[in-house]
Amino acid sequence: MEIIGSMSAMQRFSKALRLSGKTIGFVPTMGALHEGHLSIVRESVKANDITIVSIFVNPAQFSEGEDFNRYPRDYDNDIKKLGGLLADAVFIPTVDSVYPDGYKTYVEVRGLSDKLCGQFRLGHFSGVATVVLKLFNAVMPVRAYFGLKDYQQCVVLKKMSADLNLDIEIVLCPTVREPDGLAMSSRNAYLSAEERLDAALIYKALKEAELAVKDGSLKVRAIAPRLRETLSGVKSITEIQYASAYDPDTLDEITGGARVLIAAAVKMGGTRLIDNIMVDLQAAEGVVC
Ligand code: AMP
Repeated sequence: MEIIGSMSAMQRFSKALRLSGKTIGFVPTMGALHEGHLSIVRESVKANDITIVSIFVNPAQFSEGEDFNRYPRDYDNDIKKLGGLLADAVFIPTVDSVYPDGYKTYVEVRGLSDKLCGQFRLGHFSGVATVVLKLFNAVMPVRAYFGLKDYQQCVVLKKMSADLNLDIEIVLCPTVREPDGLAMSSRNAYLSAEERLDAALIYKALKEAELAVKDGSLKVRAIAPRLRETLSGVKSITEIQYASAYDPDTLDEITGGARVLIAAAVKMGGTRLIDNIMVDLQAAEGVVC
């Protein structure tokens, strides 16, 4: 497996592969890899001649006071895990290589970046869109893979890709969970033992709302108060940033519709956790809006 450390070296590597007719699948990550990441890498390995995984803790997507400095970094273990999955290259660019002195260009996906997480993480999605576009230009993939756990990120990047006519298929992969339902995340490592137990109640609350909406005992417009009631009863949750039903395309809060995204972001002390479930109400019986 190749280990590549700069944007220019990555471009040279990928250009040669593309010229020889190989398809490249790309999985961008911030590292501290867990089974959620690895499941995505496996999808890429299955569908492409070459799979390239990037590991880059992107300073541009962390706001003031967030966890950029303490974000877990475990490059040696990550490289071992990727080698075992038959990934072909790991791209670990330095911050200077991505953002050299005098860097000035940022990508804005208006109208989607400022909702949900964007209200609480100012500039986050501009940082994400910018780095992903730069990584795309270095890796030159045919397909790029993202996890639905970060649902808003998927919507923002699909829109960027369509608006900027990128010739890259954006593939969205299901959320991988711990046995108790908690969505896997590199940030779960920050949780104390008590917080970790309570963290499973986030998915449980979303799931309960989903089942109640599907069996008709909860109206879509009552999802938000139900979630707030349940989540505010969880001892370790110190702040509920959002918890409601959203339009899966516009990310606006909704009171009905064929497809509903039930999503929440909470804080447990200094740790921010997000999760979501997509509900197909057309397929369900007994739904009342
Ligand atoms: P991150 O390293 O957190 O930036 O994540 C890199 C990619 O892995 C993103 O596309 C995430 O959405 C995805 N991802 C993170 N956690 C999970 C998970 N539990 N299940 C599926 N995909 C995930």
